[in-house]
Amino acid sequence: MAKMIESAASRARTPFKNEDLLDFTRPENRQSQLDALAKTKSELGQTYPLIINGKKISGETTFTSVNPSQPDQVIGYFARATVAQANEAVQAAATAFESWKHVPAEERAGYLFAAADLLKQRRFEMNAWMIYEVGKSWVEADADTAEAIDFMEYYAREMIRLAEDQPIVRIEGEDNQLVYIPLGVGAVIPPWNFPAAIMVGMTSASFVAGNTVVLKPASTSPMIAWQFMRILEDVGLPAGVVNYLTGSGSTIGDALIEHPQVRYIAFTGSRDVGLRINELAARHHKGQRWLKRTILEMGGKDAVVVDETADLEAAATGIVASAFGFQGQKCSAGSRAIIVEGVYDQVLQKVIEKTKKLTMGDVTQPETYMGPVVDANAFKKITEYIEIGKGEGRLVAGGDHHGPGYFIEPTVIADVDPHARIAQEEIFGPVLAVIKARDFDDALHIANDTEYGLTGSLYSQDEKRIERAKEEYYVGNLYFNRKSTGALVGVHPFGGFNMSGTDSKAGGKDYLLLFTQAKAISARKAPGIQRGAV
Ligand code: NDP
Repeated sequence: MAKMIESAASRARTPFKNEDLLDFTRPENRQSQLDALAKTKSELGQTYPLIINGKKISGETTFTSVNPSQPDQVIGYFARATVAQANEAVQAAATAFESWKHVPAEERAGYLFAAADLLKQRRFEMNAWMIYEVGKSWVEADADTAEAIDFMEYYAREMIRLAEDQPIVRIEGEDNQLVYIPLGVGAVIPPWNFPAAIMVGMTSASFVAGNTVVLKPASTSPMIAWQFMRILEDVGLPAGVVNYLTGSGSTIGDALIEHPQVRYIAFTGSRDVGLRINELAARHHKGQRWLKRTILEMGGKDAVVVDETADLEAAATGIVASAFGFQGQKCSAGSRAIIVEGVYDQVLQKVIEKTKKLTMGDVTQPETYMGPVVDANAFKKITEYIEIGKGEGRLVAGGDHHGPGYFIEPTVIADVDPHARIAQEEIFGPVLAVIKARDFDDALHIANDTEYGLTGSLYSQDEKRIERAKEEYYVGNLYFNRKSTGALVGVHPFGGFNMSGTDSKAGGKDYLLLFTQAKAISARKAPGIQRGAV
């Protein structure tokens, strides 16, 4: 352990650097990814248990994770946890917390560094699982894995920083100290759309801060979380620190959230589920000694605004990338393009042309840009929104879908009213609403006029407008002259306002504070007058 502590401390002194993305034009990377896809394919269709206190527990019943490109291809059969097993997992985490909370921060960070190294080694494999399980393209899958590595590298360093002497004011006659201690048991509930990055980020922030975890992965991406559990097991993380509880959120979610031994809930997902968690977590239950903390990151209806001074080519490229990367299934997706009327027709034409050039199909092939949407429910919801959109605007690209996988063409609907449903509600699919604004003021007003506030872009060359947008564009992540997606750990701390959540700023200096509580410790050294009122 001494060695682990020492090496974590020295590694933490090297500055954090984002992982480079793999260059798939290089033959050796292409070959490695193809090999990993072949290996993964040979492992499809197995059955996976729960992991509670390090023990593998088979499910009495299972559910199936399937390949959305080919829904008859089973990724795996996963245990459907019962409420009793959810309670057991919380109990295991509570027991593990009693020892884990005493493990030094450097040692906890050491596990995270070791896990990051192992994920680097298994990068192609993790990418392959995402390509199969959620239909990511090679590039999107690799960016997801890279972000997961970044989160571990970043939070390990952050924890070591938080464990150092904190800068408080010193006074005569007292030794004063502020330390960050863990909260307790966390229920970690991630979404499927960044099945590696967000799941790894919320889980690793939790346990590196000294908490223990019940990880309930999204039911459309349990395999990615299983791969992470394998890594944690391989680096020797003690049993019970992270427990793996697959099953339907609607069945076991309430039990987890309301359990009196759960201290906090870290959730990323839809607005409605986030609101429900917020409400349930606020209730007090017998035996519960704390106010539960909630870290809730929710939906978005993000906009890309273009004014008449913008580089229109770059703006159109940014709009298309923001709207259709990973089939529009990103919370940061630019699902609204708001264009001032002077350049509206020009930009729209470019957007249509670029959209029509996107490739959609077999994501096991490196050139494919778009794959399927994640499952039958998403497919149904998105195709219904396209029908609604046809009545709310002018369909100018896409609109169709193809089976047997859940493939929906990148769809552009123009001349949409800012208050139309497709301009206000999160569709979470490849559907772009294009809205005409009178001028920059009007565009900014439209951009802010939803209940969300996650990401936003402005394409403009006008410095004054850029300065105004810095103050008035009300989003957690604001971008100028670039797409609305693609936040980097450490560079763009991520989280939104309003119904987009609690603005946790994942991948930023404030994030780990959400997983800790601060304790001020004072020791009187000499007798004398003590000041202060509280
Ligand atoms: P959901 O809200 O449907 O699910 C998220 C997680 O919550 C899943 O693990 C799900 O489990 C679980 N869950 C579902 N119902 C309950 C319940 N009643 N109690 C407890 N847990 C429950 O979201 P999606 O997975 O579909 O993810 C897409 C959403 O996530 C979009 O709205 C997107 O904008 C948002 N998102 C936000 C981000 C941000 O940083 N703000 C980042 C990424 C995504 P199960 O799968 O079993 O139903």
